[in-house]
Amino acid sequence: MTRLSVLLSIIFFFVCTKSHAQSNSEWTKPTEPFRIAGNVYYVGTYDLACYLITTDEGNILINTGLAESADMIRKNIERLGFRYSDTRMLLNTQAHFDHVAAMARIKKETGAKLMAHEADAPVMEDGGKSDFLFGADKSFAFEPVSVDRVLHDRDTITLGKTKITVLHHPGHTKGSTSFMVDAPDEKRSWRVLIVNMPSILPQTRISGMPKYPGVGKDYAYTLEQLKSLKFDIWVASHASQFQLHDKRKPGDLYNPEVFRDNTGYEASINTIRKQYNDRLKSETKK
Ligand SMILES: [Zn+2]
Repeated sequence: MTRLSVLLSIIFFFVCTKSHAQSNSEWTKPTEPFRIAGNVYYVGTYDLACYLITTDEGNILINTGLAESADMIRKNIERLGFRYSDTRMLLNTQAHFDHVAAMARIKKETGAKLMAHEADAPVMEDGGKSDFLFGADKSFAFEPVSVDRVLHDRDTITLGKTKITVLHHPGHTKGSTSFMVDAPDEKRSWRVLIVNMPSILPQTRISGMPKYPGVGKDYAYTLEQLKSLKFDIWVASHASQFQLHDKRKPGDLYNPEVFRDNTGYEASINTIRKQYNDRLKSETKK
């Protein structure tokens, strides 16, 4: 190692550990729960987005954050005036520990039915062991949880008067899923997209991986699908992905309009598209 490369790796180490610690503190930090639009509410942590969709026949919880965030999510639900025990269905946008690790506990406590896309269902049931990227790494593991209903692209999930459309958006995980739901309030109905933005992890090889040969094709498919979706407002798996904390401050009154942001949506997709192209280019060069 040259002196320069030693210096660079020391800097790299500190930058990486620092940014890792920062992202983790935002993952567990609390934030005010609030009504997004109609019967769709934000009940997640500062960065790990969890959504509660309320109906007159019980409620649907999408995503859980880390295992230790279960209490925070329950409190957020109660702070909004809903009953935790009314949770009937559990959904997730991707089977990574930062979005599903509290699923097993919440399922036990509420008796809700867990639904997951067929390609992520095995990962949910083995606690992350069969994940194509992180399966071997125990720090990404979570408590296994049984799936009660296996979902497919375009399936409909119905509870009370609410119908949710399942949109399979593979790449980030094989069974990554977005959800579309019409959420009526006192004045109108909002078409809400809860999107799993297909962020590309540094470890992913777009040109194909032993446990996921078609990963590049899936990313390309998802990016195309996302472009064609029609909705009024959008939110995502991470608060940072849709700039929640710029759009809404604690104490702000109910205003779905702030989540319209078609420009931000298109910009996010374009950024990932560029990242995809750059990555593919550098992989084929090697
Ligand atoms: Zn993830």
